[in-house]
Amino acid sequence: MRYIILSFSALLLLLSLILFLQGRQGHPLPNHLSKIEKWITPNNRVKVVSTTAIIDSIVEQIGGERIDHISLIEESMDPHSYELVKGDSEKLSFAQIIFCNGLNLEHGASLRYQLQHHPNTFALGDIIQKKIPEKILFNQNQPDPHIWLDASLWAEVVDPIVQALIMADPEGKSYYETQGEKVKNSIVNLDKTIRDQLKMIPSEKKHLVTSHSAFNYFTRRYLTETLDEAINDQWQSRCSSPEGLAPDGQLSCFDIQCVVNYIFQYKVKTIFPESNVSQDSLRKIQSICLEKGFLIEISKNMLHSDTLGSFSQTYQEMLANNANILYQTWIS
Ligand SMILES: [Zn+2]
Repeated sequence: MRYIILSFSALLLLLSLILFLQGRQGHPLPNHLSKIEKWITPNNRVKVVSTTAIIDSIVEQIGGERIDHISLIEESMDPHSYELVKGDSEKLSFAQIIFCNGLNLEHGASLRYQLQHHPNTFALGDIIQKKIPEKILFNQNQPDPHIWLDASLWAEVVDPIVQALIMADPEGKSYYETQGEKVKNSIVNLDKTIRDQLKMIPSEKKHLVTSHSAFNYFTRRYLTETLDEAINDQWQSRCSSPEGLAPDGQLSCFDIQCVVNYIFQYKVKTIFPESNVSQDSLRKIQSICLEKGFLIEISKNMLHSDTLGSFSQTYQEMLANNANILYQTWIS
């Protein structure tokens, strides 16, 4: 009899523990719900939309369990010309906070309209431009939006993200500040690692040809040899691409010929495709060079300019992967 009473008490204790844990954690969501359905389900978390996966990666690392986050523009899609598709307006309207890149990256008319009319849109690149305007590059009076490819610049987005999350969730202030500090340190450390890594490449090999002009900030930060080269626009001789700041522009014979001339001038052996851009222009360049008896290779490893890519879970992995591809190609 005593044994039965003890067993019954143990069962009650176990049931109490399960109920206590369920009360703490809330009811788990069914597994069949999509990422969007989970994101839109009301809870106490801050609902955040970022336009690109690159921004979303930093927001996720800072916000952790206190936020529900999604990126609007799916992998492999071009953020420059992205126009809203079915369901996007609802996501943007439901978001408490929207983070976008600004600097004219998101120039699709329908997306730009929504970004301009949401009460809590934070254009991170525009905020950086106000803080350190001398660091922003321009091409034909257009700001170059690809600031994430210079980690020392991208570290500057951490503080505005932390401030925006605190505004929406003041109770999380110390959490966001602690996370923000960690994320900033990891980006600053990555910046130093890439600088050290690419310093090992001989100067004459550091000439980067890609599909579109996404790597200007990267070139200025990581491929230059002297401070003079970085601040006096001499870095421009270290990169070339047939397509402009946005890969949706018209490609001209003149642009193709400029890159061919660049390849001959600097004896470039390998050119680099990008994961979200067609390789047509690079193939054209390769065939013109071949006609002139100059064999160049299109790298089998694609760089990631505007997207994280399928191999990278985080912004830091994406940038480190880009640097590794260049290092391995140029060191051999
Ligand atoms: Zn781009």
